[in-house]
Amino acid sequence: MSSFIDLKFINLLKPRLSQFKQKNDFLFNFRCPHCGDSKKSKLKARAYFYRVKNDMFFKCHNCGMGQNLANFIKSMDPQVYSTYLLERYKGGASSTPKPKMKFDFKPVFEETNIITDLKTIKQLDDEHPAKKYVINRKIPIEFFDKLYFCDKFGQLVNKIKPNTYKTEKDHPRLIIPFYDTTGKLFAFQGRAFGNEQPKYLTVKLDENKQKIYGLERINFQKQIYVVEGPIDSLFIDNCLAAAGADLILKSDVPNEQVTYIFDNEPRNKEIIKRIQNMIDKNYNVVIWPSEIQSKDVNDMILSGLTKMEISDIIHNNTYSKLSALTKLNEYKKV
Ligand SMILES: [Zn+2]
Repeated sequence: MSSFIDLKFINLLKPRLSQFKQKNDFLFNFRCPHCGDSKKSKLKARAYFYRVKNDMFFKCHNCGMGQNLANFIKSMDPQVYSTYLLERYKGGASSTPKPKMKFDFKPVFEETNIITDLKTIKQLDDEHPAKKYVINRKIPIEFFDKLYFCDKFGQLVNKIKPNTYKTEKDHPRLIIPFYDTTGKLFAFQGRAFGNEQPKYLTVKLDENKQKIYGLERINFQKQIYVVEGPIDSLFIDNCLAAAGADLILKSDVPNEQVTYIFDNEPRNKEIIKRIQNMIDKNYNVVIWPSEIQSKDVNDMILSGLTKMEISDIIHNNTYSKLSALTKLNEYKKV
């Protein structure tokens, strides 16, 4: 019955919690009174009450503060706190709450619906320019419902980061959503169809997360491949995309179980340096054979290679340690 008392006190505190919204029976969202949430946006609300077994807990996804409800109430109002203790623990053996706090699990929060209002590529008719674009890039059909179309990209970005775009210059983009291993959306990338710059723009909903694409599909027991571009990753099994920076997985996966596949640019100093860096860290790297002219995996597909053939090329040209250094020396043209 303790949940019932908890809910009663949550209701009591409600008027003091800004942007307070009840999400479901045992999930509440509001602006964090500890950190004040965002100073820029008055609408940002990243604090939650949620239930574990029979108890309610507090967690803020901005400052990271986590408390049981008792401690939260105590920090808000010591007087209400003593009433709470009386009500909750009357007749009980102990007079203080037993803090059984465990914050290593992830409560399931309502997904940000920011992209679910958009149409998936699958939902567009075949003549739609965005669908044609995806078909022309030979993106496997099973991903058509994982990619979205947004006709006003600036407007979408401004919903998350107000005033980023002047919307009178708005343009459409292909939306590539980034989910974490639990399937929660944490970022999305907009790819321009035309010459709009930057060509790829990634917007994070959760600033603490690394920009890694494809996490929700990965089997961490198997060999993991890492490419640069999200679209390239769709042509390789068990593949992540690093979306920009060098991706080092924050996980227990041993380095030998990870294979980095950089774009095929032997004259690009920056890329050569990054391959070198991965070899130094004892990762596997793919050194493209000289007969491959295309500069990335999607280009290889467009030049007529199949997914299977690319997988074979990757297998036959994966190196590590000394052999990787030797191959890199043969490969680089800088
Ligand atoms: Zn906070």
